Amino acid sequence: METELNIDYTVGQMVEGFVYSELEAKGLFGLAGKLVIQPEYQRNYIYNDGKKDVAVIESLLSGYPLGLIYFVDNDGKLEVLDGQQRITSFGRFVTGKFAIKVDGHEQTFSSLAKDQQRKILDSKLLVYTCKGEESEIKEWFETINIAGVPLSSQELRNAIFSGPFVTAAKATFSNSQDARQNMWGTYVKGNASRQQVLEEALSWIAESQGETIDGYMAKHRQNKSCKRLETYFTTVIDWANVTFLSTSSHMRGLEWGRLYERFHTKPFDPAAVDADVQQLLDDEHVTKKSGVFEYVLGGKTEHNLIHVRLFDEGVKRQAYKTQTDAAQKAGKSNCSVCASVDNRNKTKIWDLKEMEADHVTAWSKGGASTIDNCEMLCKPHNAAKGNH
Ligand SMILES: [Zn+2]
Repeated sequence: METELNIDYTVGQMVEGFVYSELEAKGLFGLAGKLVIQPEYQRNYIYNDGKKDVAVIESLLSGYPLGLIYFVDNDGKLEVLDGQQRITSFGRFVTGKFAIKVDGHEQTFSSLAKDQQRKILDSKLLVYTCKGEESEIKEWFETINIAGVPLSSQELRNAIFSGPFVTAAKATFSNSQDARQNMWGTYVKGNASRQQVLEEALSWIAESQGETIDGYMAKHRQNKSCKRLETYFTTVIDWANVTFLSTSSHMRGLEWGRLYERFHTKPFDPAAVDADVQQLLDDEHVTKKSGVFEYVLGGKTEHNLIHVRLFDEGVKRQAYKTQTDAAQKAGKSNCSVCASVDNRNKTKIWDLKEMEADHVTAWSKGGASTIDNCEMLCKPHNAAKGNH
């Protein structure tokens, strides 16, 4: 791979013919059309937060260097490998897309003093241009991605598996203007423009096929469409949407793909599911609310999913003492089950550590975790009883 350091590019040259797409939130072209600012493997523009973009302009006005920028030379056509966020920031500023504060006053580029405009346009940029095989460039891209905001795991995959499939998938899953993003956000955690919705979609379909995301992307890299991925993703979301009538913040970020695969062939009564879910979400004994959805669909038997709060130690000790005192007086076992059936433990006094607390009225039937609903049983009998 050849590299060449160019120190003569100016901001003014770079923003010649600058085009910014509001729809896709990315800078498209610069250098009078010779430069592609956001090739398909690049992430979307994420500096437009009123801080990072403003900081770029303030650096230029203060005469600070913006750091190294990397271009790839593709048969005379240049692509930005690293520096897209910075170029898009000053491109947007020069074309009047945002303002900065100078001495307490909002200033757009055109309202700045002429000498300040010149200072920005004449700022020199340090640009490394490299030429080489696609694979070398991709590898390099991973290495130089150290400054600024690190790439998310999916942004990195998009770079490594760049091609028609990534282009189509990004257009579908990271388009912030797509009205479906709102609904998807009920179920999926993460930032669409950082490719985290795409990552979730890929993880669901890959898992359903016993694959990794990398494996799936490698296999479909040359596909021009991502229709199957989109269909699977929206099918999962639609299923979640009709199965659970009410939405809740606890739904966000669940493994919906796995839940879909586990339950979608079973019929459910959404009204009954909803009633169960609401009751459990309101139940103070349920300490892991995100587990409620799977717990209900699974028939309310997998208690470990929802981390039911059990009896605290003081309650257990108190129940143990009361039971054991009474049992010793009566000459029976302090486990009521042992005492009631004929076996070799009929009169056995178990140690506290050999016993477990049981809900007299089961927790799942509304029994509280209080002393008057607590009975200590020997471990084998408690296990046999099952339902807490
Ligand atoms: Zn027992």
